[in-house]
Amino acid sequence: MRITDVESIILQHDMDEPLGYSQGYYHQRTAHLVRVHTDEGLFGVGEIFGAGNVAFANQAIVHHVLTPLLIGRNPLDTNAIWHDLYNHLRDHGQKGMPIASISGIDIALWDILGKATGLPLYQLLGGKCREDYPAYGYGMMFQQRDDLEVAYSAEAQRIVELGFTALKMKIGMGIARDTSLATAVKQGAGEGIKLMADANHAYAPGEAICIGKALRDLGFYWFEEPIMPEDYQGYAMVRQALAGLQIAGGEAEWTRFGHRELLTRQCVDILQPEVSATGGISEFMKILAMAHAFGTPVLPHVWGSDVLIALDMHLLAVIPDLPGGLHQFEPMLEYDTTPNLFHSQLLREPLDILEQVKTQQGRVRPPAGPGIGIDLDPDFIDRYRVA
Ligand SMILES: [Mg+2]
Repeated sequence: MRITDVESIILQHDMDEPLGYSQGYYHQRTAHLVRVHTDEGLFGVGEIFGAGNVAFANQAIVHHVLTPLLIGRNPLDTNAIWHDLYNHLRDHGQKGMPIASISGIDIALWDILGKATGLPLYQLLGGKCREDYPAYGYGMMFQQRDDLEVAYSAEAQRIVELGFTALKMKIGMGIARDTSLATAVKQGAGEGIKLMADANHAYAPGEAICIGKALRDLGFYWFEEPIMPEDYQGYAMVRQALAGLQIAGGEAEWTRFGHRELLTRQCVDILQPEVSATGGISEFMKILAMAHAFGTPVLPHVWGSDVLIALDMHLLAVIPDLPGGLHQFEPMLEYDTTPNLFHSQLLREPLDILEQVKTQQGRVRPPAGPGIGIDLDPDFIDRYRVA
């Protein structure tokens, strides 16, 4: 089998209301998909991390740099191709957009492998370590209104009513306001719900420690990206100061080489690689093995279309227990509950996450079809494709 073509597909739609996080507001949703075609008619689907104009820059990397290296190759050579692409780009970017672009290609190659063998991705990766696992409801993003506490509290209540047993909110508005927002979410969620807060690296270590203490007092489970990802020493300092609160991070880290720094410097309690940015499935599995060698649980970051949701559903199934036992740390699926057409309309057969959450006590299970196990809706792609 040989690769004959690589398609990069950028989809966008306007949002009814802008939603924000500590670094800015989104006015549009973007999804950047890739399709790798072969001479046997099989094709694989992948997704590349990067919203807005970043997607167009990644498209140029796919077209001009990666595609010429892929045409004529055997798509089943996943590991060999990964290293060839990485070695080719090493001198031009060991982090960021080049690696995200490789990630989407790698994902598509694994999808081809699954379709060629008739096996679901979880089988190719060594089989399910769990049949199902919880999903957590992502929401409580910034909105342009003064009474954000009221909105956050109502949204937390709504997500719990959907059946989720864990929630994540955005913070990053300063110590006093973050504390007030976290208090509102706790009130809205009620008792027995696992709570997480994500600052998207809004703080320096000193302030992050103050906010972390407030979150800890409120009973929050994890504090995500408290400080900038380049500051490994600061991460270790924040983590040491906040014993009892799990420090999570890693979505802005790249390849095994970047994650090695987070692990050796003892930066995080929970590692969150993003498969569509950090190097794809091939690299995710290496990072997972390395993290477990350090005794650090992996709980993937998920921010993308239903292509990525489906892919992460496989990854969550194959993460081994760490360290093993009857009552284990369970990885959870991150699921964005804010309005998103790439979650509700992109696939011919929807993943039905919300239905699963509602009927299975907040738990979900991976798709069973070959590869990632998804089928894109061509009419939807025609309608929302911008490049
Ligand atoms: Mg995050």
